[in-house]
Amino acid sequence: MAALIIDLVPVLNDNYVHLLHEPDSGETAAVDPAVAGPVLDAVEQRGWRLTHVLVTHHHHDHTGGIPEVKRATGCTVIGNRNDARRIPGLDVGVVDGDSVRLGDQEARVFDTPGHTVGHIAYWFKDSKALFCGDTLFSIGCGRLFEGSPAQMWRALSTLRDLPADTRVYCAHEYTQSNIRFALSVDPDNAALKARAEDVEGLRATRRPSVPSVLGDEIAANPFLRADDPALADRLGLAGADPVTVLADIRGRKDRF
Ligand code: ZN
Ligand code: FE
Repeated sequence: MAALIIDLVPVLNDNYVHLLHEPDSGETAAVDPAVAGPVLDAVEQRGWRLTHVLVTHHHHDHTGGIPEVKRATGCTVIGNRNDARRIPGLDVGVVDGDSVRLGDQEARVFDTPGHTVGHIAYWFKDSKALFCGDTLFSIGCGRLFEGSPAQMWRALSTLRDLPADTRVYCAHEYTQSNIRFALSVDPDNAALKARAEDVEGLRATRRPSVPSVLGDEIAANPFLRADDPALADRLGLAGADPVTVLADIRGRKDRF
């Protein structure tokens, strides 16, 4: 059984469209095609044929390319059944606990509301890859446009429970600005400082900071550490529950 080949296509200002190719079957998926042209070009350059689109949430910078991609390839569009009316061209609706197949690689679907109420994530266990859209970013998390801090904390806790060697394929290159903020709330975190140095090197040569490794996120990402008593203490929230701490950190980030 061959693992997925995963490539990322940078589009718009800071979006990544991830391409997943299962070599035995030839099946190929694009996650969150913000635009069509560059995605179709990237698929063609690799000699692949697009068979699926996986959607994490309805925002235009994740779905804008779907109609054209679908017209050009006839691919099957998979996304949250409970958000069907906001996802253009949805063919197959999925919900929490469902699985999605690409050849013999299987993804589990997780509900991850918070950024939007209909946000979902896809975890390919055997390929150790998580596609989490705008829920979990490297050293950050998505803005709470629709959901509550409690929903986001639950979503992040679900993702945090995945194996530590899972690679986190988020949908934006926000890592450097996330790190600047994270250092303001957790300045003595050695893992965060190490990640800051790594990412500086990557971005100095325009290389992506995505994917990251879940274990590194758990050590360095303040939004995954909202139940760390030391972090709560530093924020003046000693003894507070993680949802309160997460809401506080998210609020600080929004104002940063
Ligand atoms: Zn979004
Ligand atoms: Fe986005």
